[in-house]
Amino acid sequence: MGADYIVIFAKVVSNLSDLLESWSVERSSELYRVAEWSGGYFRVSEKGDMLVQPSPSASDRAVSIPAIVEGLKERGLDMPVLLRIENILDAQISQLNETFIAAMKNLGYRGSFLGAYPIKVNQQKQVIDAMVHYGGPYHHGLEAGSKAELIAAMGMMIDKEAPLVCNGYKDEEFVDLALTAVKLGFRCILVVEMPSELPLIIERSRALGATPVLGVRIKLASQAGGHWAESGGERSIFGLNTTQLIDAVDLLVEEGLLHCLQMVHYHLGSQISNIREIRTAVNEACRVYAGLVKEGAAMKYLDLGGGLAVDYDGSQSNFLSSRNYSLNEYCTDICEAVMTTLDEQGIDHPIIITETGRALVAYYSVLLFNVLDRTVFEPDPLPAEMPKDCHPQLTNMLESLNGLSIRNIQETLNDTIYYRDEVRQLFNHGKITLRERSLAENIFWTTLNRILQTAKQLKNAPAEISEIERLLSDIYYCNFSLFQSLPDSWAIDQLFPVMPIHRLNEKPTRNAIIADITCDCDGKIDSFVDRFGSKRFLPLHELKELEEYYLGVFLVGAYQETLGDLHNLLGDTNVVTVSLHEDGKYDFSGELEGDTVADILSYVEYDPKRLLMKFRKTAEMAVKEGLISPLERKTVMQVYEAGLRGYTYFER
Ligand SMILES: *Cc1c(COP(=O)(O)O)cnc(C)c1O
Repeated sequence: MGADYIVIFAKVVSNLSDLLESWSVERSSELYRVAEWSGGYFRVSEKGDMLVQPSPSASDRAVSIPAIVEGLKERGLDMPVLLRIENILDAQISQLNETFIAAMKNLGYRGSFLGAYPIKVNQQKQVIDAMVHYGGPYHHGLEAGSKAELIAAMGMMIDKEAPLVCNGYKDEEFVDLALTAVKLGFRCILVVEMPSELPLIIERSRALGATPVLGVRIKLASQAGGHWAESGGERSIFGLNTTQLIDAVDLLVEEGLLHCLQMVHYHLGSQISNIREIRTAVNEACRVYAGLVKEGAAMKYLDLGGGLAVDYDGSQSNFLSSRNYSLNEYCTDICEAVMTTLDEQGIDHPIIITETGRALVAYYSVLLFNVLDRTVFEPDPLPAEMPKDCHPQLTNMLESLNGLSIRNIQETLNDTIYYRDEVRQLFNHGKITLRERSLAENIFWTTLNRILQTAKQLKNAPAEISEIERLLSDIYYCNFSLFQSLPDSWAIDQLFPVMPIHRLNEKPTRNAIIADITCDCDGKIDSFVDRFGSKRFLPLHELKELEEYYLGVFLVGAYQETLGDLHNLLGDTNVVTVSLHEDGKYDFSGELEGDTVADILSYVEYDPKRLLMKFRKTAEMAVKEGLISPLERKTVMQVYEAGLRGYTYFER
């Protein structure tokens, strides 16, 4: 038997075993780690479809995501689509509040919990509506960091017991707005972020005849790790250090307003993945709180800001995209830390406020898109015979390939890389033709492919094998813009769970990275959730002719929607909100068409009407010059106008 024959035989056997190997939806679920990151909202159905359910306990009300996609298609809504599931907000708000309530009850905490949703995390009206509505029973409030956010909050809030926390750098108008809210009876707390804000607040309070409730944002010495480390710690931009804090107390005493100071506030940063940092910070903040009580302030609230992390990769670790604690541990540890510090000094337990954003809204949105095309790095079949008089280096490469066995993998790898580099040199010196070089590259890729196949039979494969696997992985081109829809994937290498939303009863036989349709080489996802942190490629299914293949990027409800930009003039995607009902049915409770090309162009200051006019002139000139007929001009104009009205993404 010739060496070639053995290779072919091995290939047939491995294909056959692939076919025979049984696959199951459970294996898909494990492969994509669904149970680990889904928060109980997503799972794989017996048919191999991705399901979404309104709460972790409502498995009888699960709805198929591919069925939703079909419904959208029937309604003429194209991919990409951002799918929002309203019920998830309801469930997440309840979960946060109930977990705090339970922890407080367990520990005998003699205060209460109030949430304040930070508007910046997802400012969409739908989200704020949901916070106001579902937050009602818990008096879950809002946090505003700018005038626009405060104006939105004041227009939306009804509950006078829910907190309205005003953070951010404040000018006179901002202060006046907040004081107006105070006068209207809102539980509005003005947080002093900078020493210069206090005299302004005092002056405006007098002018408007309002008695403000004040908080102070403090700089903590305890520093948290992670991307946003600098927002905590001594170098943080906002907040008062201890000297400035004492100055503020003195000023309030002087003005006879110390009773207004009721809250200590800090924000460590977002996505704090290590519980130890959360505990250390609470401890330090409680010391400051106690200090202010001793100074005579009427302390009542302790606001811990945001930071409650989301386990995007499901590793339950202190990796950046994970968290090493459960919600219950978060709530319990915070309450315990507060009690330990304050009990010792006989101080009443405060109302604990958190400005939890990410953890409330991340699960709420899923980005859905179709795969448009793919590139595979599979070499062409090698010719039966080598061309006559071909360069000896090519023959060497072929011999090395044919000599590959399980015992000489590393050696073959080294040889083929060496020969390939030699061939490139020879080509640069004009010693090898373009056609010969092409053949050499083909032998090279064939060799890598066979090395990978052979290495699969080994227990301990050479270290380079995983690198080869990455080199040989496919590129799946997908209908979305990373810059518009997943800005944190690009900007800070945030991991999001990505997976097919159907065909999960089939074995995924390809390894791929994902590219978007911007022509930017950064427009790709090449890091995916894995048991050990992250991996460089994602197992996906073969594409079928005449059948769309859909992927979903999950947990994109926090920060992604308005941080995105117009790179390559790809605009907002279509957005659809579903609400899931008791009877297992669902309806489309909101539908927003994405940007048209005309919308996008007007954002960058084109006037679509004038563009059309100018283009009409260009077309008319073409008629005059005899390039097109008047009848063709009509078609040309129709094409251009339809383009202006159209979606910015790829349409089938
Ligand atoms: C961004 C921000 C938050 C939200 O933090 P999450 O980690 O998303 O919960 C809360 N408070 C302040 C002051 C913030 O700037």
